[in-house]
Amino acid sequence: MEIGFEINLENIDDDSTPMITPSEVIEHIFCPRYTYFLNCLDIDQNEHLRYKVLKGREIHERREKTNFDYLRKRMNCVKKEIAVYLASKKYRVRGVVDEVLWLGDRTLAPLDYKYTEYSDFTFKTHKIQSVIYALLIRDNYSAEVNRGYICYVRNGNKLKEIVYSEKDFFEALSLINEIFEIIKKGYFPPKTKYDARCIDCCYRNICPK
Ligand code: SF4
Repeated sequence: MEIGFEINLENIDDDSTPMITPSEVIEHIFCPRYTYFLNCLDIDQNEHLRYKVLKGREIHERREKTNFDYLRKRMNCVKKEIAVYLASKKYRVRGVVDEVLWLGDRTLAPLDYKYTEYSDFTFKTHKIQSVIYALLIRDNYSAEVNRGYICYVRNGNKLKEIVYSEKDFFEALSLINEIFEIIKKGYFPPKTKYDARCIDCCYRNICPK
């Protein structure tokens, strides 16, 4: 039996609604001033390039490892779509989900690949990214999305399941709002509370203490 959800055509990305990407949210988590330098002053000091290189490596690595059948069995996955571009006017985000999975319980879930080692600890950036993909899937397929998966491909394919809470969705939406507030009002946000992040930061030469 075909398990299908209609895609929401109202979400076709016609550039009429300003949108941000999950990577911009991750940069904002790293330091809110990234949002200011990138989106208000339009200064891109190669950090995006670095992100793209890393992402490229992740995808390359993913393509090299094609036998994920046993993982899909574990997730009870009955259908998947690969590299799905989704945009949501409602949530003001757009991005490419590595895989959208149709699960046996008729819910959908994002699967994201990471070129990093597995750790029992889930990084906030990984979790928020997954939650944003969940929002995109929810809005576009009008389907229930209550969990997501991250496959850590370095040193073997280790799978992590993230069961979303309402608090997770609230946090992701608050971050998106925070970013748009900075973009709209153009105010200079407080710096990250972790001084160590400034050491290698591409903006350290122009960022006031
Ligand atoms: S130098 Fe520090 S405070 Fe300034 S943008 Fe970079 S990480 Fe943020």
